[in-house]
Amino acid sequence: MKYVGAHVSASGGVENAPVNAHAIGAKAFALFTKNQRQWFSKPLTDKSIALFRENCEKYGYQPHQILPHDSYLINLGHPEKEALEKSRMAFLDEMQRCEQLGLDRLNFHPGSHLKKVTEAVCLQTIADSVNWALDKTKGVIAVLENTAGQGTNLGFRFEQLAAIIDRVEDKSRVGVCIDTCHAYTSGYDIKTEAGFKKTFEDFDRIVGFQYLKGMHLNDSKKELASRVDRHDNIGKGFIGLEAFRRIMNDPRFDDIPLILETPDTTLWPQEIRLLYELMEA
Ligand SMILES: [Zn+2]
Ligand SMILES: [Zn+2]
Repeated sequence: MKYVGAHVSASGGVENAPVNAHAIGAKAFALFTKNQRQWFSKPLTDKSIALFRENCEKYGYQPHQILPHDSYLINLGHPEKEALEKSRMAFLDEMQRCEQLGLDRLNFHPGSHLKKVTEAVCLQTIADSVNWALDKTKGVIAVLENTAGQGTNLGFRFEQLAAIIDRVEDKSRVGVCIDTCHAYTSGYDIKTEAGFKKTFEDFDRIVGFQYLKGMHLNDSKKELASRVDRHDNIGKGFIGLEAFRRIMNDPRFDDIPLILETPDTTLWPQEIRLLYELMEA
């Protein structure tokens, strides 16, 4: 089963996210469980939690169709102690919100070394942060997103994702989300048939498809290996439609949330329909 959806608004309360997803014909959705530009927000109310669960049930969204995303402020690989602690506390809060909502995965960007430590030290710090948060929570998988490799962000090579997973103690609670735009601009040529084949063979060998817990479906405004993160609407950027056709017809991408984070959100209903139309019967 293919579950295509989008990163919908949760403004006014998390309970609105499944309603917004249903309204655009989504079979999956992503959301922020708090204001993504703030470090801490008020706890979820019991009412909000109950309504979220009720709306998910009503519109047929199960945990494996939902991919919450954490705040952009968090850096689990921060080289400085105080800032790292703040990030860890905020990440723990996000994991706990997922627990309260009955969700089983939380998507996050691995972290940045800020040119103050080596890549290896930063990857170790990220893994330590994940172990620390997993220890204090239950049932939620920490899902590492591959990055475009902009600035000092790590996670732009499959080897870096594998290095973090290697160091996570509970392998049943760590996963990966592949963002197609980030993959392309970090240097994985998913645009061509041969490049797509090689990218996902490499992914399977280095990371393993058993860790794939979600995808972000975005086209790219920037070129291959530009290391710049600028999403475009499906079929309108440098990646083009064929890569998405391959994903929609490949059973390795079944049964996980496939989430649009494309810039023109008015196109989402159309893009969801288009992606399903790409499936060959
Ligand atoms: Zn993404
Ligand atoms: Zn991005």
